[in-house]
Amino acid sequence: MTRGGGVCLRAPMHTAKRVAFLGLGIMGGGMAGRLLGAGWAVTVWNRTRAKAEPLAAAGARIVDTPRAAAQGADVIVSMVADDVASRAVWLGPDGALAGAARGVLAVECSTLTVAWVKELAQAVAAVGGELADAPVTGSRGPAAAGELNFLVGASAEALVRLEPVLKPMSRSITHLGPVGSGALVKLANNFVSGVQVVAFAEALAWLERSGVAVGPAARVITEGAPGSPIVKLMHARMSAPDYSPNFFLRLMAKDVGYAIEESGRAGATLVMAEAALRRYREAIAAGHGDRDMAAVVEPMRGKAARA
Ligand code: NAP
Repeated sequence: MTRGGGVCLRAPMHTAKRVAFLGLGIMGGGMAGRLLGAGWAVTVWNRTRAKAEPLAAAGARIVDTPRAAAQGADVIVSMVADDVASRAVWLGPDGALAGAARGVLAVECSTLTVAWVKELAQAVAAVGGELADAPVTGSRGPAAAGELNFLVGASAEALVRLEPVLKPMSRSITHLGPVGSGALVKLANNFVSGVQVVAFAEALAWLERSGVAVGPAARVITEGAPGSPIVKLMHARMSAPDYSPNFFLRLMAKDVGYAIEESGRAGATLVMAEAALRRYREAIAAGHGDRDMAAVVEPMRGKAARA
């Protein structure tokens, strides 16, 4: 821009402030909202367009393909269901990498297999960009409040570019190693969480069938040594019962399945994950996949009374 006296006053340099956000489900919707609130220019895409509309009111630009979202973006963030969805949004015919500029920072926040994340990193490098994997812990509430914990796999250079992007969405950012490290640790985390959910469900269904006063009995567990944050949360939700989704049961089944797959690649065996996965699959077969993971208890309950 030129103003009087021939002095050239540059418009403020675009310091990586244009972000494309792909996937606006329970998590992505809240995360994109945080970026908008922090002053980023956000272009959004979601397979089901209706979920993008509320973000337009907050200033987001909605586009029809991941490719269109990626065009002109300094950073592209993806938050979708699984490996299949991630492959589609990045590498599909109208995928983000078809529109990405050289030098782009690609950020994959979905919970995925390490094998796919590493393959994606190569595809991003082939278009002259760099991938950071940054899956999260925390659920619907922390996503909307900017209180997620990011588990990052990235080069030191990518980490420097990543931090300002993650900051408005995060309570913590933990750098765990090169790309793929975030995915690995996230799967280990959800293996332990997923097993605890099932263990508590089995205990609760057992107590309900046994005739003991379930309220005080369950509190012995939740207020004692086994009372982890997730066990406490599951107690509240299973007892209510409240299965409005914070974390879809089918997605926890996906994560436990991915943990089994990845641990096998490392020569480890997750016996507990295999048992938990059986319970999640039973619940999906009984029609609970689109409810919160707490619904895993339902098929175990039968007609037993709840106290
Ligand atoms: P969600 O509400 O079901 O959102 C899933 C997103 O993926 C939606 O935008 C969906 O699009 C999109 N998607 C699914 N299949 C697709 C495909 N084939 N092509 C393109 N887009 C596709 O789930 P969420 O809870 O936000 O979870 C997102 C990711 O975060 C998952 O990897 C999950 O494991 C992980 N995560 C979730 C939580 C949690 O507590 N919810 C916590 C940590 C991590 P549509 O809207 O069109 O269906």
